[in-house]
Amino acid sequence: MHNESAPSRRRFVTIGGASLAAIPLVALTGRAFAATNASMRTALKYQDRPSGDKDCAGCMQFIPGSKPTDRGGCKVMPGDTEISPKGYCTAWVAKPK
Ligand code: SF4
Repeated sequence: MHNESAPSRRRFVTIGGASLAAIPLVALTGRAFAATNASMRTALKYQDRPSGDKDCAGCMQFIPGSKPTDRGGCKVMPGDTEISPKGYCTAWVAKPK
C-alpha cells in the first residue's frame, strides 16, 4: 500500500524541529527580528557612538528598547531595530524636556 502522507509528515516534523530549535535562540537574545536600515544609516551618517553630548537617547526620533541600555528604533530609519541609545546621526533633534 502506498502511503502519500509520509513525505508531508516528515516535512512537518523537520519544520517543527527547526522551529523548536529556534526558540532558545529567541529566548536568549530577545532580538529575533533585529534589522538595520543600511541606506538610511549611510545617508544620515549614523554612528554607534555619541557626538559630544548628543546621542540617540536624547533625540526625539529615538524609539527606546525594553531597557534604557537596549538598542531600539528610530522614526527616521524605518525597519531598523539596532539603534544604540549611545548612537548619533545628522538628523538628531533634541528631545523636548
Ligand atoms: S534621528 Fe539619528 S540621532 Fe535621532 S534617534 Fe534616529 S539615529 Fe539617533
